Amino acid sequence: MSTVKQKGYFGQFGGSFVPPDLQKVMDQLEEQFEKYKNDEEFNREFAYYVKEYVGRENPLTFAKNLTDKLGGAKIYLKREDLNHTGAHKINNAIGQILLAKRMGVKRIIAETGAGQHGVATATACAMFGMDCVIYMGAEDTRRQALNVFRMELLGAKVVAVDKGQGRLKDAVDEALNDLVQNYDHTFYLLGSAVGPHPYPTIVKHFQAIISEESKKQILEKEGKLPTAVVACTGGGSNAIGAFAHYIDEQDVRLIGIEPDQAPSLTKGVPAELHGFKCLALIDENGNPQPTYSIAAGLDYPGIGPEHSYLKESGRAEYYTVSNDEVLEAFKLLSKVEGIIPALESAHAIAYTAKFAPTLDQNDIIIVNLSGRGDKDVQQVFEMETK
Ligand SMILES: *Cc1c(COP(=O)(O)O)cnc(C)c1O
Repeated sequence: MSTVKQKGYFGQFGGSFVPPDLQKVMDQLEEQFEKYKNDEEFNREFAYYVKEYVGRENPLTFAKNLTDKLGGAKIYLKREDLNHTGAHKINNAIGQILLAKRMGVKRIIAETGAGQHGVATATACAMFGMDCVIYMGAEDTRRQALNVFRMELLGAKVVAVDKGQGRLKDAVDEALNDLVQNYDHTFYLLGSAVGPHPYPTIVKHFQAIISEESKKQILEKEGKLPTAVVACTGGGSNAIGAFAHYIDEQDVRLIGIEPDQAPSLTKGVPAELHGFKCLALIDENGNPQPTYSIAAGLDYPGIGPEHSYLKESGRAEYYTVSNDEVLEAFKLLSKVEGIIPALESAHAIAYTAKFAPTLDQNDIIIVNLSGRGDKDVQQVFEMETK
């Protein structure tokens, strides 16, 4: 049984397609978010923690060597890799935990595939003294044993889900069961700009700090807005955060980059997936298709509803890059700038390496460097030495 709500739509995309008892929880969450999102005290608290704990604002670094090497547009890097825990996910984790705190909740649950969102959640829970339960597919706990250990170090309880295929989807189902049973004292912390309304709106709200800062920084450094903003898209949270304050600036091109083996935006069709409508890769029976990416954070058959709408309306452009191009970009940025990017972020670099030379010296590209690559060094080492 599903209920459909008109609120939370981006064109035909978004909405909330969940059973009635879960819908009640979504309604309550929406009400609380609406109450606090413009609350001065709440926003002061968010600003305090992203400064003092995350280390914001992070720099907008002019990548001079990369620019000289590629020729064409000037390239700037928005340094989410310099955040505490090494990626953008912590911005959202802190925002949602502060919301949970206002709602009087002390127990946080989340689901994680590769473990990156689980680690960000466990980190923020440790700092705010929240109980933390992370659901993870049993198969994923084996493949990501080090991240499981990391979450446990941070005080989280990791529940290995043995049902189904023991993958992310099964972990999501378990987390939602938990939420329905314990909603009066539990907050479900969702890690990307996906899921039923109001999650995509909440995640964008907290990640928008990326473009709030970059817009101010580029105006200070260059006195004008960029020609384009480039970001990788998994669920779409770092990209929507990097785009947010430029969406109304029609002259700024917004470009999202996805893996060529998980091309939800470039090849997907409108479909209902995991409680919301988006462009998704589905088979003839409407089931999600298997995807693959060397970057675990981009391995998802759907995409946030707002990106689906930005694509359909033509406001944003989305392209794919190949694994080989991503590996080249991973090495290129490391070598010329001394910055090892996350494999996810290397997708944005890979596209930029082709795109920048087609522009001229008066053009500016801002690349959202969503995370650092330390977590990926071993994987690349194994790929290179096999
Ligand atoms: C999780 C992750 C992503 C993908 O998630 P989005 O919600 O699409 O941003 C991208 N980059 C890094 C470094 C990540 O950890």
